[in-house]
Amino acid sequence: MAYYLGIDLGGTNIAVGVVDENYQIIGRGKNKTKVPCSSEEMCEQLAVTAFAALEDAGISIDDIPWVGIGTPGTVDRDNGVVEFSNNLYFNNFQLKQMLQERMKKNVIVENDANAAAYGEFKAGALKGAKNGLAITLGTGVGSGIIIDGKIYAGTNHCAGEMGHTVIVFNGRHCSCGRNGCWERYSAATGLIISTKEAMMANPDKEQPIWKLVDGDIEKVSGRTAFDAMRAGDPIGKQVVDEYIAYLGCGLANCVNTLQPDILCIGGGICNEGETLLAPLREYVDKEQYGGAKIRTKICKAQLGNDAGIIGAALLGI
Ligand SMILES: [Zn+2]
Repeated sequence: MAYYLGIDLGGTNIAVGVVDENYQIIGRGKNKTKVPCSSEEMCEQLAVTAFAALEDAGISIDDIPWVGIGTPGTVDRDNGVVEFSNNLYFNNFQLKQMLQERMKKNVIVENDANAAAYGEFKAGALKGAKNGLAITLGTGVGSGIIIDGKIYAGTNHCAGEMGHTVIVFNGRHCSCGRNGCWERYSAATGLIISTKEAMMANPDKEQPIWKLVDGDIEKVSGRTAFDAMRAGDPIGKQVVDEYIAYLGCGLANCVNTLQPDILCIGGGICNEGETLLAPLREYVDKEQYGGAKIRTKICKAQLGNDAGIIGAALLGI
């Protein structure tokens, strides 16, 4: 039996899994990420959590061929240096070299969204695709591109930032410096902004959407507009319709750029299921260029939060 170890380094948690040859997670380790910290302290946190996962799986470091890790930021996979990560305060962090010395094992480093896309490609919704795209709707819009079965990182390792393509010229300001980025409208945070804007424009608190949050706009979540729509609220329906149009516009841009076999969508909003996916498919199908016979399949991601762990574990395959 072959085993692999994958680390998903996030701004909040370090999550580690031991994956078997059927790509099932058979042991886990998890700790809160303590940042900011020195490079040595970061490697120590990662190693301690990784060894805990090995112990949980009942195997040793000698039973795995390498350690794979997905991290936020710009990663040069060849030398394993995290060139820059604003939320983990990394600047030219020699992650591969340092973690190798600490764990006495070969380490493979990849950007976290790319690792998650690779997980879906090896073991989830993108399985069997030649070209695939994984989109995650969270705080931002994360994306990872698979071309000919390999992660596409671009010449400078910054490729696949579909969330920072503009869909509204001179629109909402984005932390990347541009205005009108796709993620400012289609991430969970974007949906929350749109919901609040629509409620402020319709301030009568007797309306269902206001009742859902007990009249307190700070209680608005990514579910509020969908729940309001289901309760027959026209404001909720309007916000959802607009949200689907923003999301569909960005997805159609992705499809027309890459024409992948499969495009999978993950993140909490996907729990809306076909309420979200059916109108999205209709939107993208109308805007997919060229009348191609082979249409991009749009589906829900399958691995949830484990995509990053599984993808990281399998980076060497
Ligand atoms: Zn942006």
